[in-house]
Amino acid sequence: MEKRQKIHEGKAKAVYSTDDPDRLIIDFTDTATAFDGAKRGTIHEKGRLNNLISALFFEKLAEAGIPTHYRGTLSDREMLVVPVEIVMVEMVVRNIATGSLCRRLPFIDGTELEPPLVELFYKDDSLGDPLINDDHALLMGLASREELAEMKRLSLAINDALRPYLMDAGIVLVDFKLEFGRYQGGLVLADEISPDTCRFWDASTKEKMDKDRFRKDMGKIEEAYQEIYQRLTRLKGD
Ligand code: UDP
Repeated sequence: MEKRQKIHEGKAKAVYSTDDPDRLIIDFTDTATAFDGAKRGTIHEKGRLNNLISALFFEKLAEAGIPTHYRGTLSDREMLVVPVEIVMVEMVVRNIATGSLCRRLPFIDGTELEPPLVELFYKDDSLGDPLINDDHALLMGLASREELAEMKRLSLAINDALRPYLMDAGIVLVDFKLEFGRYQGGLVLADEISPDTCRFWDASTKEKMDKDRFRKDMGKIEEAYQEIYQRLTRLKGD
């Protein structure tokens, strides 16, 4: 596989074409951003850890029959994926109320949401990724009704697959953000699933093990990402 030119530079990842038109390479970097890019920094080893953690999740999801863009890793920081057309709707699944939900609505931080809540956000940093509903998405031409239903179904199926897997590692899946892409006439999960895009709490201490440590300047950020990776690889070894 020959890596060719950079075709996209995101906030924490760069995408490269390859000599195979059906394969792209995602390069995970150590750059960290929060608050729609307003806060920037570097988290040592983050690119490597997010790539390897995402790979473990994508492999788990493949076992559960969820279609994803993932086709393997090429190195510690490089993921091989299929090219997709990203749907400009971010799907957020919440099992526990926290973050923006508690700022927007009178949910008490830390309360369980049963059934899990699925929210849609318009993927546009200049607008601050605003909350939208299906009707907004349809009127803006972001996705079809069928695609919206499929993204919701897949988001909940991903939650059902990842929650028990993480719980086996002593990690509570609090909430997470997903992005989907169009590929060969269907939808596949794209982007990443990592401590940058999920909230993970230690099951016994409730300590934060994710990007909230960066958002809130809590320190021990790399250690938290490392701990997630180590617990998941330990699980794999069992
Ligand atoms: N999230 C993300 N990218 C975004 C916004 C949110 O990955 O642009 C993730 C975030 O890490 C959390 C979940 O989506 O796991 C819900 O985030 P929330 O809406 O509570 O936003 P926040 O409080 O982080 O502003």
